[in-house]
Amino acid sequence: MVEDASLEDFLDAGDESEDEGESGTAAGDDTAETESDVPDTGVSTDAVDPAVTTYAWSPEGAACAECGEVVERRWTQDSLLVCGACKSW
Ligand SMILES: [Zn+2]
Repeated sequence: MVEDASLEDFLDAGDESEDEGESGTAAGDDTAETESDVPDTGVSTDAVDPAVTTYAWSPEGAACAECGEVVERRWTQDSLLVCGACKSW
């Protein structure tokens, strides 16, 4: 008997959830705000950039093959890893 009552309560709760989903049109605004957060991560933009497909990133920094300056990010040029200043864009 008690179990039957629990099942009914569970089913009722499910119906209420569906109702909230329909009235969730306002929730669409929340989704818009989430999308606005994506552009803040400009890192993804750099990764997609086809002009810099051959670059190496060293968290501790590495010396440029041309000027010897220690930089975190170097690009491949003539089989050498050079810094952004030495890279011929
Ligand atoms: Zn350099």
